Amino acid sequence: MNLKYKFADENLKHKIIEDRRMFHANPELGWTEYWSTWMISERLKKSGYEVYIGRDVCDRISRMGIPTNEVIKQCERRALEKGVPESIVEGMRGGYTGVIGILRGEKSGKKTAIRFDMDALPIQEVQTDINTSYCSQNTGVMHACGHDGHMAVGLGLAEILSQNREYIEGEIRLIFQPAEEGCRGAKSIVNKGWLDGIDEFYSGHIGIGCRELGRIGACTRGFMASTKMDIIFHGVAAHAANAPEEGRNALLAAADFIVAAYDYYQQCSENVRMNVGRIHAGSGRNIIADKAFLEVETRGIDGDANIRLKEKLCRLAESISEKHGVTHEVVVAGDVGTGKSDPELVKCGYDAANSLGLGDMFESDAVFNASEDVVTMMNHVQNQGGKAAYFMFGTELTAEHHHPQFDFNEEVLPLMVEFYSKLLVKKPNKPYHSFGL
Ligand SMILES: [Zn+2]
Ligand SMILES: [Zn+2]
Repeated sequence: MNLKYKFADENLKHKIIEDRRMFHANPELGWTEYWSTWMISERLKKSGYEVYIGRDVCDRISRMGIPTNEVIKQCERRALEKGVPESIVEGMRGGYTGVIGILRGEKSGKKTAIRFDMDALPIQEVQTDINTSYCSQNTGVMHACGHDGHMAVGLGLAEILSQNREYIEGEIRLIFQPAEEGCRGAKSIVNKGWLDGIDEFYSGHIGIGCRELGRIGACTRGFMASTKMDIIFHGVAAHAANAPEEGRNALLAAADFIVAAYDYYQQCSENVRMNVGRIHAGSGRNIIADKAFLEVETRGIDGDANIRLKEKLCRLAESISEKHGVTHEVVVAGDVGTGKSDPELVKCGYDAANSLGLGDMFESDAVFNASEDVVTMMNHVQNQGGKAAYFMFGTELTAEHHHPQFDFNEEVLPLMVEFYSKLLVKKPNKPYHSFGL
């Protein structure tokens, strides 16, 4: 397409795209972003940021959906193999990933925070003609949501901000958040206090809802409240032929639950979503299954609708447990509410887009139509009297988000960097790249 906007600094653009490909080739699941944390923290330190990692970033008990100890240990070993120094891994041990970088401007002023998510998904990437040089090197893990791009944008922005310190008012916090997928990480950063006293807060996403490069949407609505639950049925194992009546079949209970849950969901008139995305049950063909593990999520266009659906599923698990003579437990593995962007910051977004020649491609009332962990941060900032805004950055995709062939047009990355720069650096009418980059 013929886009009016062009990022003028070819060197920086090259670096941003190179960073994105580096992150893409080295994807890490939520709470195991050890290598990514290290790479980002080193770069921020070099650019003069005050940097926090490890237990300084996330509150221990507010972390949700932590992987098993076995997975955590395996990922820590991989980080060491990939060159992360032992002392750094030691500081993050147990899944304390994420980075906070703080830059203080030369002038006094407000506190601003901007958030980039870091985690990948449990998907086996398909190698194509396009991604040959940067296809995932970690089996079964893939950046299929664009968070690799978000991290690269964060680093590109960090560089521009540090070069323009004299034009920055107050303090800027760059938040590199672990475990966005499944809405598991934001709360622990909020509860650690990193969003306290923030006056302006920004975040955004690549490509959601819009496939046209240059189009920017301010999401004012459509953030769905969501709860992620692990439902575990516990039964009794028995010989499948010799004494099946002695067993209590957890697998059958889980199957019964799934069918009943979808039956109920299909009758829902409310604007809700439900999905059972994973099941793991039993241990062998001739054994009555004594355990079944389900990953379930509910969503609602408002918080109450989500809670009603979630509570219905909990009651359903209860009655099905009773029917099959098994027990069950429900573990909340993620949670987020609904949110919205503030009109004042949406207007700032329009001004930023307009200054890039993209004013006519800016949508001031876009619908997100999914859930975003960042809403927990937005709500916290807004509840304290600050303002928040979230933007979607259009770009061409090779496949939908969370698909094994997901990829995007990387031209969107420098555009995002410059858009965010316009929001954060108060320097009128001059291109940022002309300052020593
Ligand atoms: Zn995603
Ligand atoms: Zn995402």
